Amino acid sequence: MISLQNRLTLTYSLFISIALLVLTMIVNQFTALIFTGLIKENIAEKNREIVRIMDEQYDPNSNGFDEITVEAMGMYFAHEGYILSLEDEKGQLIWDARSCDMQQCAKVLNDITERMETTFSLNGALQNQHYPLTYNGRTIGTVTIETYGPFFYSETETQFLTSINRLLLVASVVFILLSIVVSVLLSRTIARPILKAGEAARQIALGYTSGSTHHTLGIRIPDTYKMRELAELSHSINELAEELEEGERRQKRLTADIAHELRTPLTCLQGTIEAMIDGVWKPDTERLVSCHEEVIRLTKLVEDLNTLTHLEWNDIDLNKTDFDLSKLLHLTVEQFMPLAQEKGIALTVKLRESPIIADYDRLKQVFINLLSNAIKYTDCGSVMVSIEKGEKNWAIRIADTGMGIPESDIPHVFERFYRSDKSRNHNTGGAGIGLTIAATIVGAHGGSISVESENGKGSVFTVQI
Ligand code: ADP
Repeated sequence: MISLQNRLTLTYSLFISIALLVLTMIVNQFTALIFTGLIKENIAEKNREIVRIMDEQYDPNSNGFDEITVEAMGMYFAHEGYILSLEDEKGQLIWDARSCDMQQCAKVLNDITERMETTFSLNGALQNQHYPLTYNGRTIGTVTIETYGPFFYSETETQFLTSINRLLLVASVVFILLSIVVSVLLSRTIARPILKAGEAARQIALGYTSGSTHHTLGIRIPDTYKMRELAELSHSINELAEELEEGERRQKRLTADIAHELRTPLTCLQGTIEAMIDGVWKPDTERLVSCHEEVIRLTKLVEDLNTLTHLEWNDIDLNKTDFDLSKLLHLTVEQFMPLAQEKGIALTVKLRESPIIADYDRLKQVFINLLSNAIKYTDCGSVMVSIEKGEKNWAIRIADTGMGIPESDIPHVFERFYRSDKSRNHNTGGAGIGLTIAATIVGAHGGSISVESENGKGSVFTVQI
């Protein structure tokens, strides 16, 4: 598979090279076009100059031409590629460059022909142009100019054109090389962060598969790139790494928490049962009830963990029925009445008829969790359960005057296994799963759950459903 860097380099270089070549060709053609126009104009001007000079060689007194100057000028122009012949008005040949220096004329014309055919690939032919010479309006002769046509470049002009072409070629090659260097640098700038992100993700994944996450979870990549997409990519990878790190931390904490949760009732059970086996304690009702309570606590923990696993794997099938929410709340509150009375807490309700289509058992679990927390975390005062009607939903409030939740813990209380240290210190026995279960069930119903709390003053949990 071709790498992104190579693909980008190839694409950029190819594009810039083609663009440069096309541009060079256009410039070349354009220069040639303008230059040819100028050359044609020069040749016409030279022809006019020749005719004027030849005209000037006429002497009306002798009714003839100054043959010495004609020859001198004729040979001068012959060197430049203009082969002249001069005739008088009767058509009698006065002077002819070929007759004067056949070899020189042939050489000049051959050179021009070869130059035009080989250097410029312009296949022209020799052509004659006749110009009448006049004096006071009277024809005094004809000058014939033989040249390579339709036009030709002199040696200087050829050199100039070749230099321009060479310059264009060198400039194109230099720019193409430069564009390749720029393409390599540019594609490297883009591909490097992507490779780095890929490498970081691979390392993190490797840490998971090899079980040595402590080496790899701290991996972060720079996210200060100037290109937005790259910065976003790096940022996402870092966020992912942070999430995983946090997950890993929570996982470790969960294992420790579960071990702790299991250890307490198990130690208690083990101690009591061993003491009964050894005959130290009699298996009386009080001790058996204590053992039973511990077993119930263990069962509750296992059940909570089981529920959470189902919820986490989206294994939640809602069995929706039509019922009155106030009745459900009434029954749940009734259930907690003895516990509230035992703790000396006033458990009151302010309910109203509230029909709903929802999963009865799951919602009951939500309110059991919220009410048990309210009573668990309230040492004195009251717990109040109320229903209010919103625009399209019911708002169920469970307000207590208990210990409240520290501000820094509030954003986390719905997270799995999150327990504020305070609740731990009070050894309330919860595993930090109750609120997560409640939030997931409410979420599955399309509702929401929120909390307002002031440390030391109490909490209000609101379920909108
Ligand atoms: P737990 O089983 O520990 O109660 P939860 O998920 O039900 O777990 O609650 C998470 C944490 O939120 C608790 O450990 C406690 O610190 C805090 N919390 C929940 N409800 C209340 C409440 N009514 N008053 C004070 N703190 C609460």
